[in-house]
Amino acid sequence: MDKLLIPRPKSAGIILSYKCTSICKHCMYASSPYWSSDWISLEQLEHTIYMLSETIVSSSFDPKNVGVNVGLHFTGGEPFLNYNLLVNAVKIARKYDIPSVFVETNCFWSTDDNIVRDRLIELKNFGLDGVLVSVNPFLLEYIPFERTERTINIGYEIFRQNLMVYQEYYRMLFKKLNIKATLSFEEFLKKAGPTWVHYIELLPMGRAVYKLDMLFRKYPAKYFFGQSCYHELTRDWHIHIDNYGNYVPGYCGGISLGNLKDFETLFNGLFLNELPIIKALAKDIKILYEMGVKDFGYKENVEGYISKCHLCLDIRKHMVEKGCKFNELKPIEFYRNLS
Ligand code: SF4
Repeated sequence: MDKLLIPRPKSAGIILSYKCTSICKHCMYASSPYWSSDWISLEQLEHTIYMLSETIVSSSFDPKNVGVNVGLHFTGGEPFLNYNLLVNAVKIARKYDIPSVFVETNCFWSTDDNIVRDRLIELKNFGLDGVLVSVNPFLLEYIPFERTERTINIGYEIFRQNLMVYQEYYRMLFKKLNIKATLSFEEFLKKAGPTWVHYIELLPMGRAVYKLDMLFRKYPAKYFFGQSCYHELTRDWHIHIDNYGNYVPGYCGGISLGNLKDFETLFNGLFLNELPIIKALAKDIKILYEMGVKDFGYKENVEGYISKCHLCLDIRKHMVEKGCKFNELKPIEFYRNLS
């Protein structure tokens, strides 16, 4: 395989910046307050939305219908940290008639009913189709649950079924446990008991591989040998483009298939000889492991790995820490914000 053919994305998220109010243990993009305030410029934002306008497809129900992996969403980091930019993003999306546009939020800003109502009505009037509210015990360490509830309740008045809660299971659990404020993860574990973990969706990638590894069984590196990431790298149903223009496949934080400025050439096929990490991952993760050991002195984690993404990320992180400069390992700050 000399070339990797990337299909045009049907749905995408635009990372307005990686900056966030929280350092959630499960964050796939290693967002945190410590990231530089490199918000996407208006010019780049318009270029990104214009490029995506040719490829994003509408929900099969209705162009105004939203879904977690449908249409276009604005994310981060936390988009409401730069509300003016978010307003502009919504206006530009409307200008290019993008279907199923929503914003994802951690609700840190939902301190008052009037603020929430005013902002959500304003965004809807500018063309926003929906809102996705994140609810999970990792965010609960930073955001009082009463703010989350406020956004959900007022958001539902304004957006009805286009107010999405991800994940509803946690909302019900927090209500049942009568949680109102923040709660440390350790306290949550004590309150919720051991069974909650069976009912949730938690992707074993990004920061979770270091902060939540105790929730998973671990395996030696060779357990994952023979696995390829071809399908994740060539996924068309959902990709992300970050504020630096990196084309991030699927949910693979810290990997860039190219830059948005080369949007057209990206879909002519990637020359794998110029992208050794992608080349290895598209074939067999064992090749990445051997490259890490032989060329960069990587040592296997004796405690094991919770997933192939854990192995992949640990090797990539090691390479970056050794000062390696691969075009596909971007942004570098991602690797510095994992822990
Ligand atoms: S192993 Fe790496 S490339 Fe493959 S899906 Fe996981 S993070 Fe992405």
